[in-house]
Amino acid sequence: MDFLIKRSELADLHSKVAAGERLSEADALRLFETRDLNALGALANLARERRVGNRASYILNRYLNYSNYCILSCQFCAFARKKRDADGFELTVAELVAKAREALALGITELHIVGGLHPSLPFSYYLDLLRELKALDPRLQLKCFTAIEILHLAWLAKKSVEATLLALKDAGLDSLTGGGAEIFAPAVREKIARGKESAEEWADVHRTWHRLGGRSTCTMLYGHVETLADRVDHLRRLRELQDETRGFTGFIPLAYQPENNQLPITHPPTGFDTLRTIAVSRLYLDNFDHITAYWVGLGLKLAQVALSFGADDLHGTIVEEHIFRMAGGPAPQLQTEAQLVKAIREAGRQPVQRDTFYQPVKVWEPSAEILPRPASTRSPVLEANLATG
Ligand code: SF4
Repeated sequence: MDFLIKRSELADLHSKVAAGERLSEADALRLFETRDLNALGALANLARERRVGNRASYILNRYLNYSNYCILSCQFCAFARKKRDADGFELTVAELVAKAREALALGITELHIVGGLHPSLPFSYYLDLLRELKALDPRLQLKCFTAIEILHLAWLAKKSVEATLLALKDAGLDSLTGGGAEIFAPAVREKIARGKESAEEWADVHRTWHRLGGRSTCTMLYGHVETLADRVDHLRRLRELQDETRGFTGFIPLAYQPENNQLPITHPPTGFDTLRTIAVSRLYLDNFDHITAYWVGLGLKLAQVALSFGADDLHGTIVEEHIFRMAGGPAPQLQTEAQLVKAIREAGRQPVQRDTFYQPVKVWEPSAEILPRPASTRSPVLEANLATG
């Protein structure tokens, strides 16, 4: 691979990356602007293999959306609904527990729970939800809520962010999700998510959570109205916060999905853009262990290729996904464990089932057979997603 880099316009960055030297913002911009995707990928692969070797991870998880009602109307969002909309939904705690119980039989270790900023559900609903899900199985890891949801819950509870997070932690919250970061630059935020929290507020929620001993992931929604310099600025802010707290477990770049929203984008992210964004993230975010190729937005085929361009994680089985799907995302709602393991093996990597904190649950030896998890009583939604997954 070295010859790819040494013959390219990025040759001077090879020694920097090989020596583990920190890249500057100017370096990151240069990497974003290059057309030499092969050399960029080879550089990112160097950094990836130095940090995590040949392993690539996935998690057995289930997404739950408690409601899509939201008091905000972010321009890029295809998920949110108002109470007057026929396709709005909200689930009771009992309905969510039933979905979680069903997914436990598939071997999941994590529930990933987000929703809109609901206009009237009380704070006690969220506490009850966490408590009842934790009571199903105390080993089940609850990764819940974006930063803006935490700010909304703090407002509902009439508590500080810190006191809100402590109450949620006490009820069973294990990790915050990384969503809602979008692009931090204020001018872009105004165009795509007017009314949402500022970059500083987003960072402050995560900083507070990390100070309380919590861990979280972080994201960047790319491929809409932002410039490449805006992406570098976003990554810079995340790297600085990680230097400060060391509380991020991984970074998940999210490819923008252009349908069913108020933000018409004629050129959403291409495969080239996706691979370069993952590669630059790996190279610039030198204080992050894990970079995810989020198959929900990319499709599993491109996510698999990204395992050679800096990514070391494919995210999870998901089971039921609404947010990307409502915005025109191409992927099915579910990947089975067998599909994820096969994709990782085909890419020449060693599959590792991980938990929420990226700790290994199972390391797959080359000879290990992939056997389907035992079936249980399954709902029509799960059966349909398994059939098309
Ligand atoms: S992105 Fe989140 S906060 Fe914004 S409208 Fe959609 S659900 Fe509401």
